Amino acid sequence: MRQSQQLMPTIKENPADAEVASHRLMLRAGLIRQVASGLYTWLPLGLRVIRKVEAIVREELTASGAQEVLMPVVQPAELWQETGRWSKMGPEMLRIQDRHQRDFCLGPTHEEVITDLFRREVHSYRQLPCNFFQIQTKFRDEIRPRFGVMRAREFTMKDGYSFHADQASFDDTYREMYDCYGRILRRMALNFRAVEADTGNIGGANSHEFHVLADSGEDVIAYATGGDYAANLEKATSAPPPARPAPSADLDKVATPGVTTIEDVAGLLGVTADRCLKTLVVHGESGLVALVVRGDDALNEIKAEKVPGVAAPLRFASDDDIAAATGCRPGSLGPVGLTLPVFVDRHAMAVADFVCGANEEGFHYTGANWERDVTVADDHVVDVRTVKPGDPAPDGQGELAFLRGIEVGHIFQLGSVYSAPMDATVLNAEGAQVAPIMGCYGIGITRMVAAIIEQNHDEVGIRWPEPVAPYRVHLLALNYHKSEAVRGAADALYQRLTDQGIEVLLDDRDERPGVKFADADLIGIPHRVTIGERGLKEGSLEYKHRATGESAAEPEEAIVARLTGAA
Ligand code: ATP
Ligand code: MG
Repeated sequence: MRQSQQLMPTIKENPADAEVASHRLMLRAGLIRQVASGLYTWLPLGLRVIRKVEAIVREELTASGAQEVLMPVVQPAELWQETGRWSKMGPEMLRIQDRHQRDFCLGPTHEEVITDLFRREVHSYRQLPCNFFQIQTKFRDEIRPRFGVMRAREFTMKDGYSFHADQASFDDTYREMYDCYGRILRRMALNFRAVEADTGNIGGANSHEFHVLADSGEDVIAYATGGDYAANLEKATSAPPPARPAPSADLDKVATPGVTTIEDVAGLLGVTADRCLKTLVVHGESGLVALVVRGDDALNEIKAEKVPGVAAPLRFASDDDIAAATGCRPGSLGPVGLTLPVFVDRHAMAVADFVCGANEEGFHYTGANWERDVTVADDHVVDVRTVKPGDPAPDGQGELAFLRGIEVGHIFQLGSVYSAPMDATVLNAEGAQVAPIMGCYGIGITRMVAAIIEQNHDEVGIRWPEPVAPYRVHLLALNYHKSEAVRGAADALYQRLTDQGIEVLLDDRDERPGVKFADADLIGIPHRVTIGERGLKEGSLEYKHRATGESAAEPEEAIVARLTGAA
């Protein structure tokens, strides 16, 4: 491609509203332009990268036995009503009506549509397993679109769905998809980590996320320093706490006027925060419930909303609700004598002689003890704390440490949560109708492009890994419009490389050399070849590798040999 004929508007200055490197560089290098919040047009250079990413994803999935389909973006409400998600999905799902006032949505995901296809077309266990995928536009009306295409409202996803007659078959495919995702990310030369994850709106039992490691990532990953354990912080757990010591103090009610925070209580009573218990009140399925964590721990809201009896999504009670239910305000609450149902984090359960609110304005208990002063049923002891770096890993293999990551892929074990309500059954070997076990498998194609840049850039621009680069070679012709020698040599080399199947971008613009070099660094094509009059006289061209910085003045033959792998 001749650069003079391609729309590639580069920008010198950093756009003010772009917070992360990939967003800044995608705008500056002319890969994307914003149309409205969370909506982007992909320009020719950016689209070429999308196509490279898609091709790798498609090749690896096809090699893993998945078959490609294409489902509509617009989906009828009836399908979502069958699974109950029409009412369960919040405002992230954009609902629309057609000219007949029928309800539709713009697909945020496609479980219902694929399950509908399956129940119409597949009837026997003999046709199983089957594994479908598509590469399609999704729409999610994200509350806070940000970081450019990283969290957009309209984006491209590869979504896949598998159907199985039994657990063993499902396990095989889930493992195959897990390995396939690893192969895809390795082909893109990305540094990534697979972690245990929460299942969110998609549902099902277990899931794994694939994170590209980057300091700018929105997610925190907790991993074991001495073993394989790794999980999203939303889901991460640690080893159980050590056994609780026996009580050694008497229960005492002390005046703590005006003191409501853990720090103030601990300071006033001369104890550390880990000896104090924090009582939080949230909405339950009926009425309010209390959640107790250690004073130095933070409640993990994702874990908390999974506790049976706690309403999801998690909603904290207002001060007025709390006052109406308990007769006192939040800062004076504690489990001893509390009239609400109480769930206690297991680390809070391990504290003896603790300090907590006395459920009376201006008073706390000291020397409080579980069992002796307040009992908790076994099924009310829960794991709802956010793990911390240094916590012992759950499998005992070292400690937890944190990394930041960008979630580019997510695979789910769905069981029959879609096939059962939608009656997508097949006949099994015994002639009975059974709901197949399902899996679903997503990759954010457009988010992947941003994640690749987060891991592959420097202060002057992008450094594309070869497998996803928009072009392989950037041919810079200096003074192309003035020098016949340069024009002749550049056109000939461009043709020669192109004829060999190498993707070349020829900078034939009437621009100063400085502009061409700066744009080349910004755009980040892996191999740069500069043709200038001075070099030509000496019989050499200038080669430079974008990522390593390696450069050499070489005759054309040596450069061609490098680029065609014949060296
Ligand atoms: P997140 O926690 O980041 O919102 P999610 O759990 O909602 O992601 P999934 O439903 O698992 O995402 O979607 C599969 C993949 O689609 C994600 O792993 C991610 O790569 C991509 N994706 C999800 N939401 C967006 C978005 N708003 N913009 C771009 N890509 C997205
Ligand atoms: Mg989401």
